[in-house]
Amino acid sequence: MKILNGYPIAPGLSAGKAAILQKVPYHVSSEGIDNTTVDNHIDRFYKALDKSIAELEFLSSLLESDAKEEREILLSHKEMLKDKVFADETITKIKNDLISAEYSVHSYFEKLINHFSQIDDDYLAQRKEDITDIRNRIIRNLRDREDKSADWRIKNKIVVVEEITPSLVINIKNHNALGIITERGAPNSHSAIIARSIGVPVVFDIKHVLHEIHNNDYIILNGTSGSVIVQPKAKQIDDYKEEKKREAKLYAEKIKLSKLQTITKDNQIIHLMGNIEFPEEGKKIELQYADGIGLFRTEFLYFNENSFPPAQKQFEVYRNLIDYLPENVPIYIRTFDVGGDKLSKEFGLDKELNPYLGCRGIRFLLKFPKIFKGQLKGILQASAYGNLKIMLPMISTIDEVVKAKKVINDVKNSLRKANTSFNENLEIGIMIEVPSAALLAGQLTQVSDFFSIGTNDLTQYVLAADRNNETLTAEFNYFHPAVLQLIEMTINAAIEKGIHVSLCGEMAGDTIAIPLLLGMGLKIFSVNANNILTTKKQIRSYNLHELQNKYNEMKLKSSEEIKKYYKSLIKPL
Ligand code: PEP
Ligand code: MG
Repeated sequence: MKILNGYPIAPGLSAGKAAILQKVPYHVSSEGIDNTTVDNHIDRFYKALDKSIAELEFLSSLLESDAKEEREILLSHKEMLKDKVFADETITKIKNDLISAEYSVHSYFEKLINHFSQIDDDYLAQRKEDITDIRNRIIRNLRDREDKSADWRIKNKIVVVEEITPSLVINIKNHNALGIITERGAPNSHSAIIARSIGVPVVFDIKHVLHEIHNNDYIILNGTSGSVIVQPKAKQIDDYKEEKKREAKLYAEKIKLSKLQTITKDNQIIHLMGNIEFPEEGKKIELQYADGIGLFRTEFLYFNENSFPPAQKQFEVYRNLIDYLPENVPIYIRTFDVGGDKLSKEFGLDKELNPYLGCRGIRFLLKFPKIFKGQLKGILQASAYGNLKIMLPMISTIDEVVKAKKVINDVKNSLRKANTSFNENLEIGIMIEVPSAALLAGQLTQVSDFFSIGTNDLTQYVLAADRNNETLTAEFNYFHPAVLQLIEMTINAAIEKGIHVSLCGEMAGDTIAIPLLLGMGLKIFSVNANNILTTKKQIRSYNLHELQNKYNEMKLKSSEEIKKYYKSLIKPL
C-alpha cells in the first residue's frame, strides 16, 4: 500500500484498476537498413497492417447503431489501409531503397499529406486529418505500441497518464473510465476544465506517477482531497465503501437544494448559470433548475470528430441542447475559441512562437471565415427554437467586434435569401478576457449586448502567468489587486450602460471568490455545471449588503489578506 498526493481537479471518489497510457512519440528515422533485414521489415509491415485493420473493425463494433458518420470514417480508414497501391509501394520502397518499414510508411503518407495541403478546400483539409490518423495508427502498430487514442482498455478503469489533452478526455468520457490521474497539468488549463466536466474524479500533478502505479494496480482515487491509495488495505477499502454511501446521501441533499432559488439572505436574487463543454451536459439535473447556460465551449464539436462539423450538424447540436433545457432559458454559445492549447497544430499554428499571443479566438475566426460562417449559420438557424446568444471569444479591440458583426450580418442575409428563419434580435456579446477589453469596457458596451468575464485568460494575460504551467499555480492568482480592479471596472461599465455582465471563468465557482464577487457587485455567475449546487449553497448563506460594504475596505488589501478574509467566511456545506 502507498499513498500519493497531487492537485485535486475534480471532486469525488472512485476505486478500480489502473490503466496506464504511455505517450507515443512520433519520430521516424530515415537511416538505411541492412539487406538481410528486408524480409523482417516486410513481415512487420503486414502484421502492423492486419493489427490496424482489426483495431478499426473493433472500434466500429463499439459504435452506437446511429453513429453513421463515425462508422463511415472508420470504414474509409480501413479502405485506405487495404489499398493495394499502399502495400505495394511500401514494400517496393523497403526493398529498393533499403529503408525501414516505418520510414517507408511515413514517406508514403507524407506524399499524400503534402498533396492535400496544397489544395485549398475544407473537405480535403479534413481528409488530411484522416490520413495523419491512419499513418499514426500503422506506425504505432509497427512499433507494437498499444493504442492510446481510442481505448477499450480504459473501460471501467482509472486512467493514469503523463498529461491529458482535450481529445483524450473525450475518449475517457466515451469509454466510461472511472477517473483520471496525471503526472503534469495545471488547474486552469482547458484540459483541466474539460476533465472537470465529465463527472469523474480527477487528480493532477502526482510526481513520477507512471512509475508509482502499474497497469491493473487496484487504486482508490479521491478527487476532493487529491490523494490516491495504491493497493489499499482491506480497512481502506471498507472506509472507501462507507464514504461512497455518504457521498450518495450528500448528492440526494444537493438535488433538493437545486430546486431552491439562488437568493441571498437579504433576498437579493442572483442568477446562476452553468458552463458546459458537451451538449449532453444540458441533461444534468443541476442545469434543469439553473438560470441557463452561461458558456457553451463549442470546441468540443471539433475534438469529437477531429474536424469542424458542417453547419447542419452544428444546428442539430444546438437544437438538441435547447431541448434538453427548460423552455426559453438563455444559452450563451461561445464561437470557437481556437488557438493557444486548442487545435493550433491542425492549422499550422503550432509554428507560432507564442500561441497564446497568436492567432487565437476571434483572430482565428476572422482569418478563417468559412469556419466562422459555418458555425454562425448553425447557431442562427437554431435560434429560431430557443433563447440562444452569440458570444465572441478573445476580443481585444472594438474593431474586431465590428468585423465579426459584419460576418454575422452576411450570414443573416444569406439565411434571409434562403427563407430560413432565425431570431432577428439575437443578442451578440463578448468575452472580456484580454486586459485591453477590460480597459475599454466602457466603449465596448456600445457594440455589445452583454459581457462575460473570462478570468482564466484575463488572469494569465494581466499577470503574464501561463494558465497551463503547473509550476505557476501560485502566480496564477485571480485575487491579485490588478485582476480584481479590471473585473470591477468591467462590471461597473456594464451596469452603468445597462447591459448584462456575467463571470464565467473558474473563479466564479471558487468558494473563496464567491463572496468577494458578490461584494463587488456581480449578479450573474456562470460556473462549471458540477459546481452549481455548491455555488448556490454559498450564495444563499450570505447577506449581500454586508458583503458590499466590506468589499470597499477589502479591495485595498493585499491578495493574501483578501484570500484569508474571504476564506474565513466560507460556510461548511
Ligand atoms: C476564461 O478564459 O475565463 C474562459 C471562460 O474561457 P476558456 O477557459 O475557455 O478560455
Ligand atoms: Mg478564455
